[in-house]
Amino acid sequence: MTQVLVLNSGSSSVKYQLVDAESADVLANGLVERIGEPGGLPNHKAALAQVLNDLDLSGVAAVGHRVVHGGEVFYKPTLIDEAVETAIDELSALAPLHNPPNLTGIRAAMEELPNVPHVAVFDTAFFHGMPKAASTYAIDRDIASQWGIRKFGFHGTSHEYVSGEVAKFLDRDPTRLNQIVLHLGNGASASAVRAGQACDTTMGLTPLEGLVMGTRSGDIDPGALLHLQRNGVDVDQLLNRQSGLKGLCGDNDFRQVVERIDAGDQDAKLAYDVYIHRLRRYIGAYLVDLGRVDAITFTAGVGENSSPVRADALKGLEGFGIVVDPTRNAVRSRDPRYISPEGAPVAVLVVPTNEELAIARKALKAIGA
Ligand code: AMP
Repeated sequence: MTQVLVLNSGSSSVKYQLVDAESADVLANGLVERIGEPGGLPNHKAALAQVLNDLDLSGVAAVGHRVVHGGEVFYKPTLIDEAVETAIDELSALAPLHNPPNLTGIRAAMEELPNVPHVAVFDTAFFHGMPKAASTYAIDRDIASQWGIRKFGFHGTSHEYVSGEVAKFLDRDPTRLNQIVLHLGNGASASAVRAGQACDTTMGLTPLEGLVMGTRSGDIDPGALLHLQRNGVDVDQLLNRQSGLKGLCGDNDFRQVVERIDAGDQDAKLAYDVYIHRLRRYIGAYLVDLGRVDAITFTAGVGENSSPVRADALKGLEGFGIVVDPTRNAVRSRDPRYISPEGAPVAVLVVPTNEELAIARKALKAIGA
């Protein structure tokens, strides 16, 4: 049996996919929204019951759960038992928006499917081995250790999957490749990957640090937060929901931002420029981190679909061997592809991410199937 039910439980939604981890065939997928909201189902258990009712689960070997924060404790796909549930719950302090709904989904699924192994796959895992110089914040060591303050990184399942697919696409030994992976979706993060191991990433203790995102700020002077907090601004709400593209121009959907730029909207243009400026800053940082880079890869909704973002992110870097070919960049496809010219020193690629498949494969491996 190689089928895995992959679940991604959010605060008011459950995304599911039934996938064959070997053939990569998607047998069913969907999204239940508005859980606990007017007009929606009352809770995750009811949502799952509805999902499971419609699925043929006779061939399911495992359920794979996406869990956002694994903290220092979890850096491998982990078979879920009561102790694991408790530990995920304890990590909620570090990821209050993500871990509680992940756990609610796990508990509901375990009640509904008690005879199937459930495996947690953590978004932080791929970054567990980052060098200390990259993962340490320069604050008082005792306070950092008391409160668990360090860079963890997120989207790890995607960065790991995509960097692996890059090695396959290039037909190269992953341990001989230096890569930059740009996961640009509603949430966005970049990583530097040396010899298959992550050596830096933009997200931090939480998924707020780094790149400009749909509604999240990414990097900001911590002094600005102190100032705002002293003046009574709800900084949590500001940084998580009223920032990023949405904060700058009112739209968080990249397609809308681009449409407005085409119509001459200046707020949308500034939002785009800030987005690109931040992205380029990290590409520069990771070029220096890695010393030599073999591949730069765009993935996720914006990275896979927006040719202007890809062109602007890498404009003027010919001196580093980094070139985007306009004709290749304009191609729309669901397949991994080059956007750098034939024979360019640095391979610039678009590689679609597939977190569900990655979770399914990890879940199967974790149960020893
Ligand atoms: P994700 O979180 O990976 O699903 O990515 C969502 C983001 O991708 C949203 O901001 C979408 O607007 C963006 N996106 C999807 N398709 C396109 C497109 N054709 N051009 C630009 N952005 C897109």
